[in-house]
Amino acid sequence: MPRYEYRCKACGDTFELSRPMAESSAPAVCPEGHTDTVKLLSTVAMTGGSSSGSAPAPSAGGGGCCGGGCCG
Ligand SMILES: [Zn+2]
Repeated sequence: MPRYEYRCKACGDTFELSRPMAESSAPAVCPEGHTDTVKLLSTVAMTGGSSSGSAPAPSAGGGGCCGGGCCG
């Protein structure tokens, strides 16, 4: 089950909830009981900057599938 992060606007605390994707936008209640919460973006790293970052390119070798002869 995916985890979603929320922030409480009443106490400023952030908390995570594990809930079905269908309920990701449903109101979340802060552990303190506040209902004035907002859903934060996923914690997936999306650092701003130029489009061409330093993402590691997938390279063959190093124990890949084709290394053992299963592809041929
Ligand atoms: Zn709160």
